[in-house]
Amino acid sequence: MYLFKTVQDYSNFLQHLDGDSTSIGFVPTMGALHDGHLSLIKASKEQNALTVCSIFVNPTQFNESTDLLKYPRTPGKDIELLASAGCDVIFMPSPEEVYPPGVDLASPIPPSDLVSGMEGQFRPGHFEGVVQVVKRLLDIVQPARLYMGQKDYQQAAIIGWMIQSLELPVELVVCPIMREEDGLAMSSRNVRLERDIRARATLLHQTLTAVKEKLNESSIQDLKALALGNLSQKDFRPEYFEIVDGVSLQPLEKINATDFVVACTAVWAGEVRLIDNMILQSGA
Ligand code: AMP
Repeated sequence: MYLFKTVQDYSNFLQHLDGDSTSIGFVPTMGALHDGHLSLIKASKEQNALTVCSIFVNPTQFNESTDLLKYPRTPGKDIELLASAGCDVIFMPSPEEVYPPGVDLASPIPPSDLVSGMEGQFRPGHFEGVVQVVKRLLDIVQPARLYMGQKDYQQAAIIGWMIQSLELPVELVVCPIMREEDGLAMSSRNVRLERDIRARATLLHQTLTAVKEKLNESSIQDLKALALGNLSQKDFRPEYFEIVDGVSLQPLEKINATDFVVACTAVWAGEVRLIDNMILQSGA
């Protein structure tokens, strides 16, 4: 496994590959890796000759400086995990490498339909930062396929839009959410949950499951009320629970208005903000 910290070193490595025959699969991460991240590495390894994982805690996507400071960082353990998962290349740049002065970092502004709701509403500027960093990393890494998790549903949809609108020569592969045994979606932030809150954090998955089960018996309004009620418990505070069209991300008034229905939520669990989602209905 190679570890590169500079764009120059990675580019030198790229030049020595046989560009035509080596397909690169790319997994961008912010480190503090868990089995969710490793599932993306596994998917990439199955489909590509070479798998590159980046570890970069991107300052431009944090709208709160304390969140950036508190973001868990475990580089030694991450390297070990990636080596045992069979990752070929780790790209671990500094902010100066990613955002050097003099480099054109212009990235497209996502349409407000995609960014104004859900995460975008509560984390202003977040997706502009995500689009900027993913565009920059794609320019550097030059993959054939990009692997992202359904865990960050809105993010994957926005990156899909960026790839389409810029006609980038990369295929987006969205991988399923990996969960702990009790249903909590794996997340780097989970290690920050207090023990007793962690024990009850399965609430998000339970609520999404309950909503899915009641999909055909209740109105959207009743489902949302049920979910927000369920999620408002001691130490838990929902920020949003939305039922949206899986492509446009627009909130639905009626379930039968579309074939592809997704529920997305963000909930404060003590001091930690958790997000989760579930596809409620897909395909005609
Ligand atoms: P992050 O390090 O949180 O930026 O995540 C890097 C990538 O891993 C993103 O594409 C996430 O959607 C994905 N990811 C995070 N958690 C999970 C999970 N529990 N299951 C699958 N993919 C995940």
